Amino acid sequence: MNRPIIIGAGISGLVAALELEKAGYFPIILEATNKIGGRVKTDVINGTPLDHGFQVLLTAYPEAQHYLDYDQLDLINFLPGSVIFDKKEMRKIGDPLRDSSFLWSTLFSGIGSLRDKLLVLFLNRKLKKKSIKAIFNEAEISTATYLRDFGFSDGMIHQFFQPFFAGIFLEKELSTSSRMFEFVFKMFSTGNAAIPRRGMEAIPLQLVSQLKRTDIRTNSAVRELDGNTIKLENGETLSSNNIIVAVSPELIGLKSDRSNAHKWKSCVNLYFEIKESVLQKPIIGLVPDKSLLVNNVHYVSDVFGKAEKAMLSVTVVTDELIADEVLEREVRAELLLHCNIQAGKLVKSYVIKKALPNVNGVQYEPTPEDVAIRTGVHCCGDYLANGSLNAAMASGRVAARMVK
Ligand SMILES: Cc1cc2nc3c(=O)[nH]c(=O)nc-3n(C[C@H](O)[C@H](O)[C@H](O)COP(=O)(O)OP(=O)(O)OC[C@H]3O[C@@H](n4cnc5c(N)ncnc54)[C@H](O)[C@@H]3O)c2cc1C
Repeated sequence: MNRPIIIGAGISGLVAALELEKAGYFPIILEATNKIGGRVKTDVINGTPLDHGFQVLLTAYPEAQHYLDYDQLDLINFLPGSVIFDKKEMRKIGDPLRDSSFLWSTLFSGIGSLRDKLLVLFLNRKLKKKSIKAIFNEAEISTATYLRDFGFSDGMIHQFFQPFFAGIFLEKELSTSSRMFEFVFKMFSTGNAAIPRRGMEAIPLQLVSQLKRTDIRTNSAVRELDGNTIKLENGETLSSNNIIVAVSPELIGLKSDRSNAHKWKSCVNLYFEIKESVLQKPIIGLVPDKSLLVNNVHYVSDVFGKAEKAMLSVTVVTDELIADEVLEREVRAELLLHCNIQAGKLVKSYVIKKALPNVNGVQYEPTPEDVAIRTGVHCCGDYLANGSLNAAMASGRVAARMVK
């Protein structure tokens, strides 16, 4: 049988391979780098997993529940709330229905009014009941407009929603579609935000471990796709009647209306050694001032348990090119001034230019038409639906099921 070829071993390509195996195929995956996982990568430094960019698995993701074994991933959950760093003071706000320790701190946090807190409960209840299908059928407005229309006060938006969702959407204006806001809010309120004990890369590694008949060829960058012939950078060519392009199509010389070429959201993730954690728990700390570089922090050492030295992860949401030494200096100054955190040695920093695709017309998963490039050539990737692990998985499934 002609073996289907998948270009790209990110989450979408790996799920496509799983689905093709289920349908009886023996796929080949061509991956440009020496690693599988695409944007989900982890380095282990002194025994501590450092992800390339702070990301979490939302355990309520329907696709993740289908493709992943959570027990085996040994997930560590973040607390269902956040610490807001406000002029060196720390205010805790969270879901008291899921963690009672948040009850008093949330009520008396000074973040938002009593009305805001009631509105959060109301939104929570509304989105728990609303189906995912209904969410993605809604008209789209920006998240910022949605929150204002819902009745939240400016204070609540600026002190909580803006920093929290800027860190998720990787853009500070909350211009991201309200569909994505409702979906992510629903996922947060019905499950946990978690990281596998060995870091996020355990997710693609678990997908690979399920592949029994797939030939994964790393260091095999594709230069272009010509008809049904794949030309590799090393001069090799391969042909197949079924090709799945699990990379942005323009990278291999293809045109696609949905690829949003050049429209990516970026961030920088810095890891610092720290004397001791001021949070002591796996919780996300937010800095509610969008004029600052620092958006969110968490103590990696509080997530993964005892490490030789405490370590802090800092996320900067920016599209600007900032020189490394300037960025480091400014981030250190902001941590001290706004969070009272004295950053020690910089252990690692990751500049991620293409972190999340800027998707117009957010949907749960791409349609069969969206994934069709031409006869025998289909595409998948988060950029076809929304920037999330869930969408990457769903797109891989949709593309694989088009293979005949
Ligand atoms: C900093 C950051 C934070 C995030 N936070 C979250 C989060 O909290 N929750 C969440 O659900 N999602 C999050 N995401 C999004 C999630 O990681 C992505 O949606 C998902 O990993 C995308 O998978 P993909 O297969 O679509 O694409 P990719 O991961 O980009 O995979 C594409 C693959 O193709 C390979 N490739 C490229 N060019 C070629 C070529 N010419 N030939 C062969 N191979 C090639 C690449 O090396 C890569 O392996 C985050 C992403 C980043 C970067």
